[in-house]
Amino acid sequence: MDKHERESYHGFMSVGPLSKELFYASKKLMPGGVSSPVRSFASVGGEPFFVEKAKGPKIYDADGKEYIDYVMSYGPHLLGHAHPEILEKMQKSLSRGTSFGAPTGFELELAKLIVQMVPHLEMLRFVNSGTEATMSAVRLARAATDRNKIIKFDGNYHGHVDCLLVEAGSGVATLGIPGSPGIPQDVTKDTISLPYNHLQSVKDFLAKAPRDVAAIIVEPVAGNMGVVAPKEGFLEGLRELCDQYGALLIFDEVMTGFRVAQGGAQQRYHVRPDITCFGKIIGAGMPVGAYGASEDLMQKMAPVGQVYQAGTLSGNPIAMAAGIKMMKLLKEEGLYQNLELRSQYLADELVKSAEKKGVAITLNRVGCMVTIFFHEGPV
Ligand code: PLP
Repeated sequence: MDKHERESYHGFMSVGPLSKELFYASKKLMPGGVSSPVRSFASVGGEPFFVEKAKGPKIYDADGKEYIDYVMSYGPHLLGHAHPEILEKMQKSLSRGTSFGAPTGFELELAKLIVQMVPHLEMLRFVNSGTEATMSAVRLARAATDRNKIIKFDGNYHGHVDCLLVEAGSGVATLGIPGSPGIPQDVTKDTISLPYNHLQSVKDFLAKAPRDVAAIIVEPVAGNMGVVAPKEGFLEGLRELCDQYGALLIFDEVMTGFRVAQGGAQQRYHVRPDITCFGKIIGAGMPVGAYGASEDLMQKMAPVGQVYQAGTLSGNPIAMAAGIKMMKLLKEEGLYQNLELRSQYLADELVKSAEKKGVAITLNRVGCMVTIFFHEGPV
């Protein structure tokens, strides 16, 4: 690194006085000064910038510094921050009230759009986060199969659900926490974490426990350990094994949904999950999630069936309004082709730039999910 590079590097890492002040004041009132661990930059060093506002591809910190945002609230802002049509729809909804504890037509409208756009969904239930979606999907799978064991994959993160916080990626990976204290062993004893993309280990486990596994839950494109695409035959193999052993296949599409294709990974790879989980993108970044499946499975949920799951804020009208507009905008012709081309362009330029500087990288990309690994790879 020459002097100029070192200066610009430090220039990037160091935040302005207002962000600093906010961070140190927040640390006194909130653990790590943040509402979710990765935001503290604990594992990458430096101090986090505090956001003042965002618009389109740009995000601005409290000190007025401008950044190009490649994170986009971890995925949902495919159309950029503060999209005017989404904001307008939300504002209209806001003026009618914020939360009713009663159903609205917005839920129906968004449910219709999602069911139309995703290939293997007949019914769904709205919740408030990706974590709630995966937690509820596991409950449904266990109830439907009358079995307890869940297979997941190393480095796949499915939110901070007790039984799924085993060998997980995301903040758990970056903080080096192996699961978490506070989760009793009894709760994770039925969770089996196997290597991602290694079908044989799933086959071996199922052969030994043919009637025990309720579900296999997977990030169909791994994102939480950096982007790792499914090997050819991996997802198809999971489908076949689930059919063979009577287990349910859960696709956690919190990251891939409406992102790697309009109909998510299930559309891109032509594999049918039994249950699908969604997160923030279906509310254009508002606190929302959903899980869905066939009518037969979903009718097992209360109040029709016996499986209980509820939420005062579920189907929140402002989140639903944002989601409706977002889904409509995502249906625009050519949007995903354009996204693919732009992502390919970004990836190519990043590779060229690393080559020019003599830095060894592996760049993994699926659609607009992109990770640079500072490693020769393959990863
Ligand atoms: N599943 C996946 C694949 C995720 O990436 C995440 C969060 O990033 C979750 C589940 C949990 O979602 P949330 O943070 O909304 O609870």
